[in-house]
Amino acid sequence: MTMAAEALEQTPLEAKSPYEMRVHLGEGVPDTDVKSALKTGDMGFLHSYTTGSFVDGPGMRLVAWTTSCMFRCRYCHNPDTWTLSNGIPVTLERAVEGVRKYANGLKSMGGGFTLSGGEPLMHDLSNLTHLLQRTGFATHIETSGAYPLTGSWDWICVSPKKFKRPLKEVLQMASELKVVVYNKSDFRWAEDNAALVSQQCQLYLQPEWSKANAITPLIIDYIKSQPRWQLSLQIHKYINIP
Ligand code: SF4
Repeated sequence: MTMAAEALEQTPLEAKSPYEMRVHLGEGVPDTDVKSALKTGDMGFLHSYTTGSFVDGPGMRLVAWTTSCMFRCRYCHNPDTWTLSNGIPVTLERAVEGVRKYANGLKSMGGGFTLSGGEPLMHDLSNLTHLLQRTGFATHIETSGAYPLTGSWDWICVSPKKFKRPLKEVLQMASELKVVVYNKSDFRWAEDNAALVSQQCQLYLQPEWSKANAITPLIIDYIKSQPRWQLSLQIHKYINIP
């Protein structure tokens, strides 16, 4: 093992704080290894994970953020996840071993494992979710839905992005549709996506943070006339977590 690889083995996967910036950690991994890892799902690129979140799904969550995302949303609050090579290359075994110790605690608090990003579906997640579910984790993903769904999920949150529409088959599997509203035309965009989800899917409209003061009243008016929608808020912003 090279010194760089050894150093990466020692880099903790758990973030020190919500403010921790991680960049360039996976740059030394040869292209061929990256391609093979992404194809098999035996290795992934992880920004970090954190425990004790109550804002990333039901109950207490262990939340992990993968790296790689092509969208570059203007409201993105974790742009250091955009580039694949910013992430720590992590084997499947290391990822599962790192989170296994939290399984019982999270289960007893009605929580589980949430995978976000970046766009987590840039990775093949079949093996990861299989092992996590065997360990007792309820698995939850937050995705744009623009890539084929891999993995076995107890809850799928699709947050569609206009640059690349979600795949119909992913929308049909969605447990939750969360649409960020930046301007009035986004209500039409929300309805276009809602037309493709199942009857059981929960529908949420979320004001884009920088325009929350102007957009939130519009969303509330919209929900009054279209009560199948609910309001979603980026609670972490209101409590000053970036
Ligand atoms: S899809 Fe998510 S991670 Fe990617 S740029 Fe948009 S907000 Fe950021």
